[in-house]
Amino acid sequence: MSNERKYISGKIVLPGEKLCVVEEFTPGEGTYEDNGEVFSKVAGRVLYDFVAKRVIVIPLKKNKQPPKPNMTVYAVVTSVKEDTAFLKIFADDKRRLYTGPFTGVLHVSQVSTNFIKTISDAVKIGDVVKAKVLTNSSPFQLTTKGARLGVVYAQCSRCGAVLIRKNTKLICPKCGNVEQRKVSIEYMFK
Ligand SMILES: [Zn+2]
Repeated sequence: MSNERKYISGKIVLPGEKLCVVEEFTPGEGTYEDNGEVFSKVAGRVLYDFVAKRVIVIPLKKNKQPPKPNMTVYAVVTSVKEDTAFLKIFADDKRRLYTGPFTGVLHVSQVSTNFIKTISDAVKIGDVVKAKVLTNSSPFQLTTKGARLGVVYAQCSRCGAVLIRKNTKLICPKCGNVEQRKVSIEYMFK
């Protein structure tokens, strides 16, 4: 596969999405390097410069309106305590970034219509979650009940590779680790 076909400029990427390895493109604005791989720092449009061999991400327009009940948002899990996960809501469902930092909370009872024993069976730190907002002030109560809601991006907790979805489970393509999550049918932003 040629690089031109593999790396498509203009595609919308989210924070933490892998863009390339440093040997292919050096990390520019809106990106960061981790262990030889380049990731997006922001939600934006990716631009691969084949001449300068550089990759940058241009942030999407910012959203000044705070989340409202019934809205679908994207959030990243920042901590997990007992039966509750704490998240940073960073974009609305059109992937417009929020200007302010909005905190979301996901209680184990709001994860799924099926019984979930512990919150760590549903989400882990660093996961990107698509969720619905239930309340109208911060910290916003969130729910991931419904097929489209749940984890849309997750990395292996053993080796850090991006996990691949197989039905309701996530599997690591590198080390074979099988992980449990409340996975969205839109996993990997499909
Ligand atoms: Zn792994």
